[in-house]
Amino acid sequence: MNLILMGLPGAGKGTQAERIIDGYGIPHISTGDMFRAAMKNQTALGLEAKSYIDKGELVPDDVTNGIVKERLAEPDTEKGFLLDGFPRTLDQAEALDKMLTELNKKIDAVIDIHVEEDVLIERLAGRFMCKNCGATYHKIFNPPTEEGTCDRCGGHEFYQREDDKPETVKNRLTVNIKSSAPILAYYKEKNVLHTIDGNREIDEVFSDVKTIIDN
Ligand code: ADP
Ligand code: AMP
Repeated sequence: MNLILMGLPGAGKGTQAERIIDGYGIPHISTGDMFRAAMKNQTALGLEAKSYIDKGELVPDDVTNGIVKERLAEPDTEKGFLLDGFPRTLDQAEALDKMLTELNKKIDAVIDIHVEEDVLIERLAGRFMCKNCGATYHKIFNPPTEEGTCDRCGGHEFYQREDDKPETVKNRLTVNIKSSAPILAYYKEKNVLHTIDGNREIDEVFSDVKTIIDN
């Protein structure tokens, strides 16, 4: 099963991805996570990505397409994969098609999680993550069951993303609204697009996700 999760920043892609990979055993390919890992390790890729991410801009297509191409060539993608946060531009969507053709693969479904902008701003302002396993929480909407302990790995250290600051969030939303519209049209045309209402309980959203995957 080869899947793409789409949705504006804060729509719940990472949250649903955790459940999909746990439930279906396919690898999670998040370009945002890959850039954050590179920034943490201060690699050349990380330093380049940081200059865009800190401003809420997109990392250039050639850089982003390159890391996805390398990742899709790894053997664990044989059983399927879940792309999260890629493609984010039409150029990336077209590059992805080319990569998949070379690998003799195709996208089975594109799941677009739709949430209104005012809700997204609230979600990003309260988001925090586990330092150890990357699990995503929200101060009000989705706190860990036991305060200060990660439900997923038992870790006790958490952090907030630099680019979730209000100044950056506004630009991220503007940039992503503009870039995502043509990709949604692109996948709609290919009859693989499924749009779901992301402004409901996490489990209710996951139930729709499961229905799409299982069908
Ligand atoms: P994305 O990966 O699309 O940027 P996340 O999965 O990180 O989004 O979710 C953004 C924030 O919203 C997180 O703090 C998360 O805990 C919270 N969240 C995710 N899904 C829901 C939901 N259905 N209802 C309320 N809050 C949610
Ligand atoms: P995310 O974790 O998906 O919210 O991504 C965090 C940031 O990484 C984005 O705001 C972009 O700056 C960058 N990024 C992630 N994925 C992509 C992509 N497909 N294309 C360009 N930039 C990306």
